[in-house]
Amino acid sequence: MALKNKKEKDFSEWFTEIVSESGAKLADVRYGVQGFVAHRPWAVKIMRTYEQWIEADVESDGYEPILLPVLVPKKNIEKEKEHVQFSPELFWVERMGDSKLDEPLYMRPTGESQIYPMYSLWIRSWKDLPFKKYQSRISVYRAESTTRPFLRGREFMFFETHAVYKNHEGVLKQVTKDMKTCEAIVRKKLGIPFFFFKRPEWDKFAGAVDTFAADTLMPDGKVNQIASTHDLGQKFAKAYDIAFLDEKEQKQFGWQTTFGPGIWRIMAALVGIHGDNNGLVLPFEIAPTQIVILPVFFDKDKKAVDKKCKELEKILSEKFRVKYDSSENTAGWKFNEWEMLGVPIRLEIGPREIRAKKVTLVRRDDRKKITVSEKSLEKEIEKAAAGLLKSITKKAELFFDTNIRDAESFDKLKTILSGNRGFAKVNLCSVEIEGQACADKVQAETDGGKVRGTLYGKNEKATGKCVACGKPAKVIVYVAKSY
Ligand SMILES: [Zn+2]
Repeated sequence: MALKNKKEKDFSEWFTEIVSESGAKLADVRYGVQGFVAHRPWAVKIMRTYEQWIEADVESDGYEPILLPVLVPKKNIEKEKEHVQFSPELFWVERMGDSKLDEPLYMRPTGESQIYPMYSLWIRSWKDLPFKKYQSRISVYRAESTTRPFLRGREFMFFETHAVYKNHEGVLKQVTKDMKTCEAIVRKKLGIPFFFFKRPEWDKFAGAVDTFAADTLMPDGKVNQIASTHDLGQKFAKAYDIAFLDEKEQKQFGWQTTFGPGIWRIMAALVGIHGDNNGLVLPFEIAPTQIVILPVFFDKDKKAVDKKCKELEKILSEKFRVKYDSSENTAGWKFNEWEMLGVPIRLEIGPREIRAKKVTLVRRDDRKKITVSEKSLEKEIEKAAAGLLKSITKKAELFFDTNIRDAESFDKLKTILSGNRGFAKVNLCSVEIEGQACADKVQAETDGGKVRGTLYGKNEKATGKCVACGKPAKVIVYVAKSY
């Protein structure tokens, strides 16, 4: 059964439905605490897979895993003055059994304030550097007012790397490497396009020197930040005393960087961007089940078809994640169910196929049926898998590219953000703190359009006047509504 809500008509309702029990059963919001969801197996398997890809990537770059407790002593958050920005969002634990704790503990909103006091103890000498650790498969906690599975939660899945270098150069190289990690996994393997922006001075991660964040576009034209990497300079090092003795036995503060691919946000992009009105559409490499074998028969053929399906399942399982659905459900029900889950390839086997030594192969994205010989099946599967990724990537890129529009005037900016949305490119007087008033004006008068920053690595030159104040513009920035 197709989804009741149509993606083109009401993306928001469609997204809620596809995530739910009447859709692909990814997350259940009926857990009983707002903003805390129960993750269902299909979602966990998908997230674990790309989490493992990212783990392998950062480990090959010298990072090692660490795991820290969920509770953090109160004094930690007070050490770094700028980081106290997180305070209103903290969850606090005040009791242990029947007794009140002498000092309340907070649940980590992100890792800095729990990891850096330990770094201060672990790092001693220049020989310890670069010092590179990461945490994955953990949750963080923030008292958000509005919540939505995979987009905003009071508890959500988290991944963070934290590196300490002996100089700034090391940090800048690491930031570039983090962007490459996103490129290799999010764009190449998952088919999700994005831009890396240098965030404006007023929208940086609390305590960072520079924040670079990857924004993709959801089908409703709102941006979804799927990763960020930060140049922390020496600010945290000085606040948490992360120091080392250099070659001359002199105390030096470390230079730091942190990278956070958004495990939840990537899931939202994967579901929202590639999915259609029949359910998820998953790239072959990420799909928990890559191939489903469905028998198509009348009663008299049942035995022969069952035998052939089992045979194919056995052979293909050596190379792929395969499921032969031999359940008693009707063929129509099975088609719908596996389409809803986004399984990339469906093989149909019936008496006709058996007689001809052929298999009917259906790709999830275009749902076209082709007949392939049993002999070349493996090769045809690989071809279809590559074709699917190529096709959904192209579609996603086309949507992304056509939703970048120039806004020469404030009126045009308003029209773009109230219509198709997407990115509006505008001239702005500054992305330093003096430009904030103009960004505030943009946000107030476009019903929430935010300056996402300048495009990283492109050095786009401003030519006209600031869209908000009319003074000569210094930068071209991208404005969008966001999740
Ligand atoms: Zn201005």
